[in-house]
Amino acid sequence: MCKTHSKITELYCRTDKACICILCFKNDHKSHNVVPLEEEYEAVMAKKDETMANILKMKQCRFEKIAEIENSVDVSQREAEKEKEASEQVFTDLIRSVQRSQAEFVEVIEERCRATKQEAEGFLTELRTEVAELESRSGRLQQLSLSEDHHHFLQSFPTLCSPLKDWTNIGVHSDVCFEAARSAVTLLKQRVDEIVEELPEIKMKRMREHAVDLTFDPDTAFCTLVISQDGKQVRECRHKTECSLQSKEI
Ligand SMILES: [Zn+2]
Ligand SMILES: [Zn+2]
Repeated sequence: MCKTHSKITELYCRTDKACICILCFKNDHKSHNVVPLEEEYEAVMAKKDETMANILKMKQCRFEKIAEIENSVDVSQREAEKEKEASEQVFTDLIRSVQRSQAEFVEVIEERCRATKQEAEGFLTELRTEVAELESRSGRLQQLSLSEDHHHFLQSFPTLCSPLKDWTNIGVHSDVCFEAARSAVTLLKQRVDEIVEELPEIKMKRMREHAVDLTFDPDTAFCTLVISQDGKQVRECRHKTECSLQSKEI
C-alpha cells in the first residue's frame, strides 16, 4: 500500500528505485522510467542466479584478499624481526668498536702521562743531587778560605769548579697534545651521524613525519584524473566512459 495515497503500489519507478501507486505516478513520476511491478519483479527474478553467482564470486575474491593480506602481514613481521636482529648486530658492533677505540685512546693518554711523570722524576732526582753537591761545595769553599795552607787551597779549588749539567734547554712538556686525536674523534662522530641520517629508511620516516594531509577535489581535477571517493587517491583514467563523465561534470 502507498502510505501517501493508501492505494496498492502496482508500479515500479526504475528512476527512483521505488514501488509507487498510480497517483504517485501521476503526481511525481510522469517523466520517469516506470513499469508495472510484476514486470520489474520478473526482470529482477531473471537476474537472480546471475546476481547470486556474482555475490559468491565477490565473496570468494574477498576471502582470497583476506588470506593474501594476512600472509603479507606475517611475512612483513618476519622480515621486520630479521631486519631488527641484523641492524642490532651492526649497531652493537659499531658501539663495541667505538668503545674499544675509546679505551685505547684513554690508554695512550695515560701511557704518555706516565712517561712524562717518569722523565720528570729522573730530572728532579738529578737536580736534588746537584743541589746537595753545590751545598757541599759552598761549605768546602768556606772551610778552604779559612785555611792557612795555600798549597792545599790551590789543589782543592778546581774540584769546586768542575762543570755541572746545563739545564737551560731541559724541561718537561706539560701539555698533553691530544687535540688532533680529539678532533679526529669528533669528525668520526659527525660522519657516523651523517651516514645514519642518509639511511633510506630513516629518510622515508622523516618524510612521513613531515607529510601533509591532502584531499583532492574531484570538481577541479583535470578530466583524465580519477579521484577516489575519500579524496585520498588519484589515478589516470584509462576508460573513455569515465573520462567523458568527468569532462561532462567539469
Ligand atoms: Zn501513491
Ligand atoms: Zn520516479
